[in-house]
Amino acid sequence: MNNLRHIPAIDELLQHARIQTLLQIYRRDFVVDILRQSVEQKRSMLLKQIEEQSKQNITEDIIDLVETRIKNAEHGTLQRVINGTGVVLHTNMGRAPLGTRAMNYLNEMATGYNNLELDLQKGERGSRYWHVENLLQQITGAEAGLVVNNNAAAVLLALTTLAKGREVIVSRGQLVEIGGAFRIPDVMKQSAASLIEVGTTNKTYIKDYEEAITEQTALLFSAHTSNYKIVGFSEEVKIDKLVELGQEKKIPVMLDLGSGILADLGNWGLKEEPTVQQSVKSGADIVTFSGDKLLGGPQAGIIVGKKEYIEAMKKHQLTRALRVDKLAIAALEGTLLEYLTGNPQREIPVIHMLTRAEESLCQQAEELTQTIKNDLQHYTQIKRVTTKKLYDMVGGGAYPTYELPGYGVEIEFENISLEQITNRIRLMNPALLTRKQEDKMQISVRTLLEGDEKTIVELIKKAFQAE
Ligand SMILES: *Cc1c(COP(=O)(O)O)cnc(C)c1O
Repeated sequence: MNNLRHIPAIDELLQHARIQTLLQIYRRDFVVDILRQSVEQKRSMLLKQIEEQSKQNITEDIIDLVETRIKNAEHGTLQRVINGTGVVLHTNMGRAPLGTRAMNYLNEMATGYNNLELDLQKGERGSRYWHVENLLQQITGAEAGLVVNNNAAAVLLALTTLAKGREVIVSRGQLVEIGGAFRIPDVMKQSAASLIEVGTTNKTYIKDYEEAITEQTALLFSAHTSNYKIVGFSEEVKIDKLVELGQEKKIPVMLDLGSGILADLGNWGLKEEPTVQQSVKSGADIVTFSGDKLLGGPQAGIIVGKKEYIEAMKKHQLTRALRVDKLAIAALEGTLLEYLTGNPQREIPVIHMLTRAEESLCQQAEELTQTIKNDLQHYTQIKRVTTKKLYDMVGGGAYPTYELPGYGVEIEFENISLEQITNRIRLMNPALLTRKQEDKMQISVRTLLEGDEKTIVELIKKAFQAE
């Protein structure tokens, strides 16, 4: 067991030509650090090894490890994931992928200077909020609009501005927690507004709100219960009834929509969620929603509604802390422009995925099935590959009970467990996330993006070869 004695000293390794090349590119302390880690890794490998290895071989192995580690370090931890789950919007997977127009616009604004807070007409200081406000007015029909960091921030800002130290009436059926620990009662506490709960979990009537109104009432609040649905014996007050009551009592009505839909998806079976336009039309004074859910844009919290309330929010100190950056404004403007002048159904990935025709999904799944068969069938780990009809999900807290009819590829393995193969492809770059049906793997095609099919085949192949 002389192997350990054949490990060169760090100083000696640093003189090696391959390391010298690396030192011309990377910082010395970074290379030394990685060199130490690689020596340690090789040392533990040698401890388990019986046959003798030459010093030269050990040196080369260590440098191979160094190069791999440097390559990995250059990637960072955020990496591409191929979404084969059929869940269109998932917070864990970064929610909405951006469309081309948003991406180009974002790229242009990110890499240069811009007029973020410049009024070029007047040649003086301008407002960053001006850029998207006009688009929001045109698309939603609202008097005014404001964009902040995310929808949680939008709700917090609206409550703090309009109801701090006063009362907000909410139905018990809407005191929900939304993914990522956004709890309406907690946000309410942060805003220093008192929460007045009315009704019961399954039933709330307009008279419950009416009876709770006092001198102290600042807002009637309605939240879209995005991620769950009470079916059966339940009743919630419709937004127009609440607006009627608010107008009669001169109390503003706020609606937290969560997933703000701008495109009417009724023709695709997605009828139950009110669009932002419908919500504005219903007369709600303030409507809040996310930029990266069904809208299909970047993370942002969008507030639209009556001018007097939006103006008060713009002036509030908190807005400065919640302010949205130029990258999000650029991506949001690009996305909104697609709604106004372009073709959201074709160009906004989320809308495109949700409106795909079943035949087209079926055809895509059949093609992927065929490709996998052609390229992988000779591997002993493949037992059967078939096209399957399955159900996809909208996700992002929208349409919690709606199952979108979709298609995918189902792969049955042998000589390798489903868990093993699933883990391997999850640890690759890009990672591949799939679904599981009993002991079979399913890859839904709805959420695949251009080029993903080719990568999927390569990833599975690599996972087999890693045996
Ligand atoms: C998703 C959601 C939120 C939180 O929005 P973020 O953009 O994630 O901050 C708030 N309210 C409702 C109803 C939601 O669905």
